[in-house]
Amino acid sequence: MTEHFDVIIVGAGLSGIGAGYHLQTACPDKTYAILEGRDAIGGTWDLFRYPGIRSDSDMYTLGYNFKPWMEAKAIADGPSILNYVRETARENGIDQHIRFHHAVKRASWSSDTARWTVEAEHGPDKQIARFTCNFLFMCSGYYDYAGGYDAKFTGTESFKGRIVHPQFWPSDLDYKNKRVVVIGSGATAVTLVPELAKDAAQVTMLQRSPTYVVSVPAEDKMANWLRARLPAMLGYQLVRWRNVLLQMYLYNRSRKAPEKVKAFILKLVQKELGPDYDMAQFTPRYNPWDQRMCLVPDADLFKMIREDKASVVTDHIETFTEKGLKLTSGRELEADIIVTATGLQLKIAGGVQVSVDGRTVNFAKTMSYKGMMYSGVPNLVSAFGYTNASWTLKCDLTCDYVCRLLNHMQARGYTMCMPRQDPNVGEAPWLNLTSGYIQRANDILPRQGAVAPWKLHQNYARDMMLLRFGKIEDGTLEFSAPDRVARSLPAEPVREAA
Ligand SMILES: Cc1cc2nc3c(=O)[nH]c(=O)nc-3n(C[C@H](O)[C@H](O)[C@H](O)COP(=O)(O)OP(=O)(O)OC[C@H]3O[C@@H](n4cnc5c(N)ncnc54)[C@H](O)[C@@H]3O)c2cc1C
Repeated sequence: MTEHFDVIIVGAGLSGIGAGYHLQTACPDKTYAILEGRDAIGGTWDLFRYPGIRSDSDMYTLGYNFKPWMEAKAIADGPSILNYVRETARENGIDQHIRFHHAVKRASWSSDTARWTVEAEHGPDKQIARFTCNFLFMCSGYYDYAGGYDAKFTGTESFKGRIVHPQFWPSDLDYKNKRVVVIGSGATAVTLVPELAKDAAQVTMLQRSPTYVVSVPAEDKMANWLRARLPAMLGYQLVRWRNVLLQMYLYNRSRKAPEKVKAFILKLVQKELGPDYDMAQFTPRYNPWDQRMCLVPDADLFKMIREDKASVVTDHIETFTEKGLKLTSGRELEADIIVTATGLQLKIAGGVQVSVDGRTVNFAKTMSYKGMMYSGVPNLVSAFGYTNASWTLKCDLTCDYVCRLLNHMQARGYTMCMPRQDPNVGEAPWLNLTSGYIQRANDILPRQGAVAPWKLHQNYARDMMLLRFGKIEDGTLEFSAPDRVARSLPAEPVREAA
């Protein structure tokens, strides 16, 4: 039997649960289901279980716009974030809409029926469950759940200790009094190192090149003060806006005066580590915000370095050896455990094979419309966050837009909307970061255009104007009712039965 829904959301992570909330609030008569490949709500915050897992942006902007973050810590631990997402799902009955163990594999659009047919592998036998829907909302995240980036190190088989990838942290891993090397210098590495250093004999962060690391207070004093005095939502929105504006200011300042921002960050690091510390370890070759910045709460990483429980080595790995790692400088690092925090493997649209009227969609050949739809692909939106601010800021705006779009189509009797690419609009890479994981994914990511609505501004205030208040019918998004034409029905507003 094929079930039909007005909207199918793929993924029950932070975005999918947020999408469910927005949909049932702003489009209460729309039917929807959330298809989730795993057996749990939470996505990232359920999958990653390494010690110390936490956000690297503040929860006042990583939290939903409709549910205040009530905990004392602004930089929150993974379990608290997971709890927040699950609570949202439970409180609002969104969990009742989730079909777990439904890994979506194919989605085929037919213009004749103006519907998607969605096929998901279900249960241990991977039986195919079939659904149809009018609108597909991909909340499937941005990376491969099956595995992280494999840096293809040589000699791994000769290493006598344990090799661990943070995406699949073994719950039985005992690192107490062990020598640990963490390969990498991204958000995961700077989270792991101070946490492991609490119990390990010694932790070394081995990086190919340095990253900007900035310390922020784990608790936001002003937020906690306001929470005790103001209604929860008012205090939350005030802090959210303060943080949005601050992030926008710092990002813009980094773009306009990179040398000054760089000098400022390095001065802060030097202050934490002392005048004798070799600042080369924390001096990147790129400008601030050419790559995502790493935040550390209450300078925990620097503290562990100061106390000599953690250290940083900048070098390249020649090979794994029986005892640890041999570096290109000739130096050897002995280890009992090596953690390969080498990054994520990006994935677009949850790996779903998407086709439109029998033609397979290659997302790399599409242009991203408003950072959420793809040229030539009808009735499909993907939820993505910002690269220079919290994920949920953009996600909330995307959900608002989807609801406006659905209501607009219903009011006008449209059943299909599709961004039509203008061949005269210049192309640029979709994401403007130089990070390895983004560069590696260039051949799967869509392009962005040089002008609106194809240009990605990575700017909350601009997106708010565009997505919450901008015109739905902007001349680029084409509307029609092909199924009604096929059935010779009048183009007047027609409502599908719920
Ligand atoms: C370790 C780590 C820390 C992070 N910290 C921050 C941070 O501090 N701030 C920030 O802004 N961002 C952060 N991010 C980015 C983070 O992923 C987002 O903040 C956010 O959690 C993404 O939510 P999501 O629901 O869009 O995607 P995900 O959390 O990835 O959830 C996607 C869900 O979709 C499901 N799914 C995927 N494909 C399919 C399919 N084909 N069929 C069915 N189900 C499917 C998955 O199983 C998963 O449950 C972090 C990422 C990582 C990995």
